[in-house]
Amino acid sequence: MDNSDIINHLGEERHQYFNAIAPPIIQTSNFAFDSVADLKASFENERGHHLYTRGNNPTVTMLAQKIAALEGTEDCILLGSGAAAITNCVLPFVQSGDHIVAVENCYTWAKRLMDDFLPKFGVEVSYVDGTEFGNIEAALQQNTKMIFLESPTSLVFDLQDLEAVGRLAKARNILTVIDNSYCSPLGQRPHEFGIDLSFHSATKYIGGHSDVVAGVICGRKELINLIFEKGMMLFGNILGPMDAWLLMRGLRTLPIRIRQSGATTQQLVKFLGTKKIVKKIYYPFLESHEQYELGQRQMRFPMSLFSIEFDTENRDRVDAFCDRLRYFLLAVSWGGHESLAIPAEVIRKGSTHYIVRFYVGLEDFDLLKKDIEQALGVFDV
Ligand SMILES: *Cc1c(COP(=O)(O)O)cnc(C)c1O
Repeated sequence: MDNSDIINHLGEERHQYFNAIAPPIIQTSNFAFDSVADLKASFENERGHHLYTRGNNPTVTMLAQKIAALEGTEDCILLGSGAAAITNCVLPFVQSGDHIVAVENCYTWAKRLMDDFLPKFGVEVSYVDGTEFGNIEAALQQNTKMIFLESPTSLVFDLQDLEAVGRLAKARNILTVIDNSYCSPLGQRPHEFGIDLSFHSATKYIGGHSDVVAGVICGRKELINLIFEKGMMLFGNILGPMDAWLLMRGLRTLPIRIRQSGATTQQLVKFLGTKKIVKKIYYPFLESHEQYELGQRQMRFPMSLFSIEFDTENRDRVDAFCDRLRYFLLAVSWGGHESLAIPAEVIRKGSTHYIVRFYVGLEDFDLLKKDIEQALGVFDV
């Protein structure tokens, strides 16, 4: 099905609600039944019925149907945050004595789960530099139950070869999970490369307006049903109908937002490449990037997060550059209409880097270019 058909029409049964164009926000906690028999049937299969909003809610389900179709998976589940998507992808599938292989520089709160929480329950984690497929293969143990990917990774945007990992994991009966937030469901479909579960922080591109916190997990029906039973219903970190409605509103413009900010990003990256003070640009859509070819195979079009490393040891100067930016707001998160910048320390392949991560929003290129140009003045002394 065509993406624009999915985004604008799939799942919208307008005749059921007065032919309203905008879907209703079904703001209810529970649902009534016509008979005890019907009520009992819903206990048997809660996923298939409207019983209670901690399980299913029609506004939330409408959105889930669209996102599953965009991601190209059988099913999808929505959660109250991207962090909840992480815990719901991992906890139902591991137990004491198991081992996980995870990529280095995965998202902060994925790392907190692996470093602080899982060891308390006897689950061991090995981090690997995922740019070399061989590192992932070499890290596997007899008790490895999961390979946890993020491609591109946070802050430095390193890629993993999804097809190779998918094939290896299938052969060894290991579950594969990927954080797909960077690409949105439009920019990369990990399922096509044999990855079992892909999740997003829907706070970012899907919401797109910096006003909702949400998460989503996509995968085969049997896996999503298992997450429903053994994760979401238990932890209760659900997405409410009002937030689902806001996400649906954000989703309508996802294709044009991504196209616009991706194009501006390409221009900005090209412009930054001409500056001598810029030592390295971390952006997998640059032809000079070490993983450009792999990126072209896996990702569909240029996205709008990148980082730069300046040719200086002086971190205060880098901070001063960020302080001097006027249009790039200093803030965490990304994926909204507004451009952002944030300095960060990253350890990559054993060495430490001080970088500035940029997210490019919907402002015009000229405005953003001028802003960077004037801020680069801090290095002219
Ligand atoms: C923000 C983010 C998350 C966490 O999502 P929340 O919605 O903030 O809980 C996970 N992964 C990546 C790559 C993110 O950028």
